[in-house]
Amino acid sequence: MLSRQQIEQCRAGTDRLAQPILPLVRLAGMLYLTGPFNRLPDLFAELNEPVETGGITYDRPADLLRPYLEDMAPYERFKHPQAPSRIILSSQRTGLDQFEALDGWVTQNVLIRELEEINSLLCGPCNCRLCCIGPEENMAQDFFEIPLSAQEKSFFQLTEINNTTSRQTSSESETPLMIQGHPFYLSNDPLLVHWQQGWSMILPRRSSCPNLEQDSGGCTIYRKRPDVCRRPQIFAYALERLAELDQEYEGRRLPAFCRRDTILAIWDCPYVKQFQEEIGVYAQLCGMEPIFKENKG
Ligand code: SF4
Ligand code: SF4
Repeated sequence: MLSRQQIEQCRAGTDRLAQPILPLVRLAGMLYLTGPFNRLPDLFAELNEPVETGGITYDRPADLLRPYLEDMAPYERFKHPQAPSRIILSSQRTGLDQFEALDGWVTQNVLIRELEEINSLLCGPCNCRLCCIGPEENMAQDFFEIPLSAQEKSFFQLTEINNTTSRQTSSESETPLMIQGHPFYLSNDPLLVHWQQGWSMILPRRSSCPNLEQDSGGCTIYRKRPDVCRRPQIFAYALERLAELDQEYEGRRLPAFCRRDTILAIWDCPYVKQFQEEIGVYAQLCGMEPIFKENKG
């Protein structure tokens, strides 16, 4: 558990958990759809007084909403129709009406942005490096994996494995990719591997990310760290990607998703353990189901 001092240092993060932005975003969405507003900023210009919704009072609603303008943009499709860019289905994989589909899209966007900030506020005081090292001795996993874009890959000075075999397999394949006669995860050092799905950094046991500062535990590329490093260990899971249901539309491939309406928190993170109740309240205020998963493997 965290010390009293660490809990106090996490206060900015726990305050955000107690006052999620999503209820205000949804209220603003309804006001936008039912009011005489052409674009969302036209609505924001009218939101100068405190607003109460879902038992939360938002003192400066317009200021709070402005950073989420891009995330809320799908609402504008009601008044300004555009060509479809994705397919959003129910949790049963059946069709949704336009409002439920766009609400799921906005919800995922908003939660990703807000949880990225909350996770950063909670992680700092923990003095923990679990996300940046391979599995510890008491863990069942042989390796941890950090998916990377082609651009993010360039931030890591590591041996690269990129050949026909690696590009035809995945890290989870039953027959593991062999490197110099050994399964890839028995490497002594972290690796960059180009799999069928793209690049990832593999952190075998007893290894650590090359960008982890061993003395301070800080990240040497903190400001440009990969997306995956920004999002642990409370994850937005409002939508689940369903690549097998992607569809062709006018020469483009539309990615498919279904609603999950879940907040996923990884239990071996110290602040998830410490603030389980607060995370549950956050999920409830957002209309999401909280799920606590044992570890990140
Ligand atoms: S890039 Fe930074 S945050 Fe990501 S695993 Fe490496 S040290 Fe950790
Ligand atoms: S496990 Fe939690 S506290 Fe530890 S580095 Fe990851 S996000 Fe931070």
